[in-house]
Amino acid sequence: MASPALRPIQKVLCANRGEIAIRVFRACNELGIRTVAIYSDEDRTHEHRHKADEAYLVGRGKRPVEAYLGIDEILDVAERAGVDAIHPGYGFLSENADFAEACERRGIRFIGPRSPVVRTMGDKVAAKELARKVGVPVVPGVTLEGDDARVLEQARAFFAQHGGPILVKAAHGGGGRGMRVVREAAELESALASARSEAKSAFGSSAVFLEKFLERVRHIEVQLLGDLHGNLVHLHERDCSVQRRHQKVIEIAPAPNLSQQLRTAICDAAVRLAREAGYSSAGTAEFLVSGDSFYFIECNARLQVEHTVTEQVTGVDLVQSQIRIAEGYRLDSPQVGIPSQDAIVPRGFAVQLRVTTEDPANNFMPDAGIITAWRAATGFGIRLDGSNGYTMARISPYYDSMLVKVIAYAPTFEGAVMKGQRALREFRIRGVKTNLPFLENVLRHPAFQSGQTYTRFIDETPELFK
Ligand code: ADP
Repeated sequence: MASPALRPIQKVLCANRGEIAIRVFRACNELGIRTVAIYSDEDRTHEHRHKADEAYLVGRGKRPVEAYLGIDEILDVAERAGVDAIHPGYGFLSENADFAEACERRGIRFIGPRSPVVRTMGDKVAAKELARKVGVPVVPGVTLEGDDARVLEQARAFFAQHGGPILVKAAHGGGGRGMRVVREAAELESALASARSEAKSAFGSSAVFLEKFLERVRHIEVQLLGDLHGNLVHLHERDCSVQRRHQKVIEIAPAPNLSQQLRTAICDAAVRLAREAGYSSAGTAEFLVSGDSFYFIECNARLQVEHTVTEQVTGVDLVQSQIRIAEGYRLDSPQVGIPSQDAIVPRGFAVQLRVTTEDPANNFMPDAGIITAWRAATGFGIRLDGSNGYTMARISPYYDSMLVKVIAYAPTFEGAVMKGQRALREFRIRGVKTNLPFLENVLRHPAFQSGQTYTRFIDETPELFK
């Protein structure tokens, strides 16, 4: 498929840490692409540093999270190391349109959608507007504008019209932060104030909007992949309903217990939306499902933590596809290998379990320290994506508490659940507390086993904590 538009990538920097940096380096390795890691002082012994061909210290003297947020410094390292492209992973700068733009300006490819798309999708209000435009249902809501008094006035009017509960959401939010459920009108003022200040400090913008809070919903999302020539496909859906505080804990592909009609309607809606946005690279459209209705909530213009389950059931390596697309390859080229939408047929079921260093008995308080004993699961149908998995590894209190992702794959959902349980039992981790026993309790629960979970399942099921 030689074409003048092709621009091969020889060297990639991953502007991230931990498991996703390692995931990206593995993908590059298999494509014969050289890899560059960045690491903070806090991460000097971290495994991701050693999984790359070259590694550079960044953020000297800064707070540990800031190391992975310093756009200019990261781009300086990239230039010095002579990289052609940067993979942002997830979190950190992955949805930062200024970063995507800065990469483009310096002639370094950003492995993700084009910067204007990153910008639109980073704004949940703009993304909902786009959805409305192409006839995709959205949760009823209102954007709040103006000063504090004006914002409160609009919020009161929305509450009076729709009643509670409602949800205050950060327009530029992510990771479940900047969200407040309001059940009584009297709580509005303080919920708005705390959501806005959290949004300001976490995302640099205090812009918030309101949505009707839907009770007993499932979170269903669609994996999208587009090339730079206008071709776009979906890679079917994932069920990410098992959440804690609006953050995903377990993800499944495809969604069990979902009618074919609903599945098709949701995937079609996702593609319509992505086409309208001019989407390329990998991304996700997220929906809430209530009975036979579905509502778009947001798009993530990046690779997601749970991309692995889609890879297992479709056989498509999403990271390598992103790289090939950034080189200019078309979806139907042998390098990407997706001749048509119909060619993507999910087979079997995959369940991803996020093993964290959190203590379920103590309100999931993150634990840190040295791993004194480590034995991981292995065997047929088990994939582990992660790092830190060795004795004497140091778990930092400054970063996300995810230790390893366990992905169980089997021909049936029941089989994948049994395999997941078996894998969890094989783990032995000492020195830091983990959520392993909690995950086992979820997998053993009849509601999980019959695909009946909803987003508040963990919060409303006390027996999971026994
Ligand atoms: P973030 O970007 O922070 O992840 P999302 O908009 O994707 O935020 O929402 C995260 C989760 O919050 C959803 O999966 C769902 O559990 C919950 N949520 C979001 N919007 C609503 C809503 N309108 N009603 C009920 N739950 C919601």
